[in-house]
Amino acid sequence: MSEYDYDLVVIGAGSGGVRAARMSASMGAKVAIIEDRYWGGTCVNVGCVPKKLYYYASHISESVEDAAGFGWHVDKCSFEWRTLVDNKTAEIKRLNGIYRRILGDVDVEQIEGRGKITGPHSVQVNQDKDISAARILVATGGWPFVPEFPGSQHVIHSNDVFDLASLPQRMIIVGGGYIAVEFAGIFNGLGVETHLVYRGPKLLRNFDVDVAAAVTEEMIKKGVNIHFNTNISFIAEEAHKLYSVTLENGDTLMSGPVLMATGRKPNIEGLGLEQVGVKLTETGTIAVDALYQTSCDSIYALGDVIDGPELTPVALAEGMTLARHLYGGGSEPLDYDYIPTAVFCQPNIGTVGLTEAEARKRYDNVSIYSSRFTHLKHTLSGNPSKTFMKLIVDDASDRVVGMHMVGDDAGEIIQGFAVAMKAGATKAVFDATIGIHPTAAEEFVTMRVADQS
Ligand code: FAD
Ligand code: NDP
Repeated sequence: MSEYDYDLVVIGAGSGGVRAARMSASMGAKVAIIEDRYWGGTCVNVGCVPKKLYYYASHISESVEDAAGFGWHVDKCSFEWRTLVDNKTAEIKRLNGIYRRILGDVDVEQIEGRGKITGPHSVQVNQDKDISAARILVATGGWPFVPEFPGSQHVIHSNDVFDLASLPQRMIIVGGGYIAVEFAGIFNGLGVETHLVYRGPKLLRNFDVDVAAAVTEEMIKKGVNIHFNTNISFIAEEAHKLYSVTLENGDTLMSGPVLMATGRKPNIEGLGLEQVGVKLTETGTIAVDALYQTSCDSIYALGDVIDGPELTPVALAEGMTLARHLYGGGSEPLDYDYIPTAVFCQPNIGTVGLTEAEARKRYDNVSIYSSRFTHLKHTLSGNPSKTFMKLIVDDASDRVVGMHMVGDDAGEIIQGFAVAMKAGATKAVFDATIGIHPTAAEEFVTMRVADQS
């Protein structure tokens, strides 16, 4: 009989917490999970899932325009924001139920409330219920960061954006990362006059420069108004939910909601980490070793609350790794190389491996193969969109070390190639692979001539 109520208590039922709880329980551990907001976490409720549904909704307007070149004429076309919001909400409710069911199936006790660590082996829920555990896992994810400036009380962030009461006529989005470019595409596609305000000279700072340039060009073609090298200076409410937004460059724009997509911070406020000596990194994430143990031996952390890619599949893999390590006979640390990612801007970005700048830093000689072309579909649709692809090869080993695409279904395409990249595929293997014709993806196995540097 254990001296504790549970073997493992997980704080946070998001991607990482649910996976760790579920797998640990299925390996025989007695587990409880605490959630104070939404079962399934950010991804299911205010992240990947609703975002992708809204992305689909916004993309339909482009498909309707593309249809004319194929002989289709859509006489009456209108969009109803309320239908999208309500259908999204119903789907999320369904997913919340599934999350609770899969936890119940393996006897994970589900506790609703806010968890706070009160000792190396104790957690308090909602300041009234105390539970003890041999181990505690912090999987509390992140929270939108909003900088303060005069009028910043009027802005919204990504948690709010899915449930706007109505679709605005005009909208300002601030930031140049994943969320900013995805939502600029979504609202632009839904017919909102969309202004993207970014403090730097180029969007998507952490992506390959050619990818960022290609996406920027496509976004501008589609009608997104991008304001580079500036930021919001102040906001004043002119009428109910109508704002006058003054930029640092002196421009003033009238806008409906102002969406701040200015990054996320670890969600650790009031969690009690300092009392138990859990150390943080310089950036404020929880410091962990390769198997997610914090500086307090009985406390672990994973997902967005630690350093590393803030992506659902990463949080899931970390949860799985930890469960195997603690209750499944041991686990090697997770390999963080060649993690693919997609940005669901329009068109999508799909990427795996190194950017050109990273590859040039790591290897003595690299070859670049790139291609920019009109997708077969757009020869008839008349859509001016271009597809961009880029391969980066380490000359010494011939290994393909970076792969990037901007184009329709880039995420779907790169997911498959990521397996080959992980397996160490060389350019010779790419060249020996027969393409599937006619597809855009076949270009990745037919690029034969390196770019001149
Ligand atoms: P979360 O999923 O954030 O879960 C943390 C949970 O802990 C939450 O449910 C929270 O309510 C709960 N919690 C916090 N504190 C407490 C407490 N004290 N007590 C009890 N419960 C608590 N990733 C992708 O891979 N693909 C995408 O397309 C994608 N799109 C995204 C779009 C948006 C708008 C956003 C914001 C994120 C997106 N992400 C995407 C990132 C992805 O959602 C996160 O990386 C992922 O959810 C991290 O999982 P997690 O388990 O670490 O945290
Ligand atoms: P990102 O880190 O991607 O981008 C944040 C942006 O905000 C950057 O352009 C940054 O500029 C800018 N910024 C930061 N502070 C300020 C400020 N004070 N004023 C003006 N601009 C500022 O964060 P996101 O919020 O877009 O997304 C958070 C994370 O969620 C992502 O990193 C990603 O991991 C995950 N996510 C994944 C998605 C996917 O997989 N498709 C989709 C959405 C989110 P600068 O570059 O100059 O620092």
